[in-house]
Amino acid sequence: MNSIEKYPKISLAFLPTPLEYARNLTKLLKGPRIFIKHDNCTGLAFGGNKTRKLEYILADALDKKADVIITIGGLQSNWARQTAAAARKIGLKVILVLNGNKPEEYQGNLLLDSMLGCDIRFKPYTDEDEQKEEAGETPITGEIAEEVKRNGQIPYIIPLGGCNSLGNLGYISAIKEIKSQSEEKDIHFDYIVSAVGTGGTQAGMELGLRLYPMDTKSYGISISRHIKPKSQEIADLCNQTVKDFELECGTFSPQEITINYDYIGEGYAIPTIDGIKAIHTLAQTEGIILDPVYTGKAMAGMIDLIIKGFFKKNEQVIFLHTGGEIANFAYHKDVLIERK
Ligand SMILES: *Cc1c(COP(=O)(O)O)cnc(C)c1O
Repeated sequence: MNSIEKYPKISLAFLPTPLEYARNLTKLLKGPRIFIKHDNCTGLAFGGNKTRKLEYILADALDKKADVIITIGGLQSNWARQTAAAARKIGLKVILVLNGNKPEEYQGNLLLDSMLGCDIRFKPYTDEDEQKEEAGETPITGEIAEEVKRNGQIPYIIPLGGCNSLGNLGYISAIKEIKSQSEEKDIHFDYIVSAVGTGGTQAGMELGLRLYPMDTKSYGISISRHIKPKSQEIADLCNQTVKDFELECGTFSPQEITINYDYIGEGYAIPTIDGIKAIHTLAQTEGIILDPVYTGKAMAGMIDLIIKGFFKKNEQVIFLHTGGEIANFAYHKDVLIERK
């Protein structure tokens, strides 16, 4: 049996999230019909794509009788904020190890982390340490886990972005949800376009599209570079999840995973002019707020691809709104500039 229902999860998100036809944006771009899948509306201190991952990950934390959740992220990590909110909701404590020095002002996600009553540790760390954490070593969180144990409590460490096999289940069920919305609305979707960070979201969707086929392609727009190509990382994540949960959907190769790297700009979390323009365009056509780190860049990519004729006019494209709007308040100097 491949059904996703058999894996334990706790209910944290408002589901299904709305799937909205973006009439004005479609008209403006004269391209394919564009739909927005509002995973920014999942709930949990404003929501975002991490909520779906946390439904599975925190079920495991409860199963392991954890008292304290420990995770890492940047100072404006959407992941850290959603994890904190989720942990609070199920009565657990949270220690966040945020990459950087304590800033003078708390804004955006960091402001919310503090309101959520997290124990925040500021600690600049390297990409190398971060990758070791991903691989299951714990140069950043290990000492803190020991400290929790010394206090007689059980720690539960979650990797950056909730990117593991358990977290990947979140976007398998998102695909199941999109499939039933597609049937309800009687609309066939040709593509799902989304921002790619760790790749866990796209990995889940790739798996979901095999388990709940609907002849739809997942198209990832990367917002950061890594040592390995993201298509390789995502194929690895898919294969690991297949193995861990004995999913009957074959194996994945990087050639099957579509990732576009053209819209990253200077690097992760450095806003691009086109990304900021895309934020303003969505706000002014649809009243939808995107973010400068992920969805603004992904939308800038999708708009450019539409202008270049990549999508056919008679196609239907879903843009997955993965959240992140809160970061606008921390990036206000970058995003407020008169329409760049
Ligand atoms: C984390 C995040 C992503 C990327 O998701 P991954 O699963 O890490 O690829 C995209 N958008 C927003 C707003 C995020 O917070």
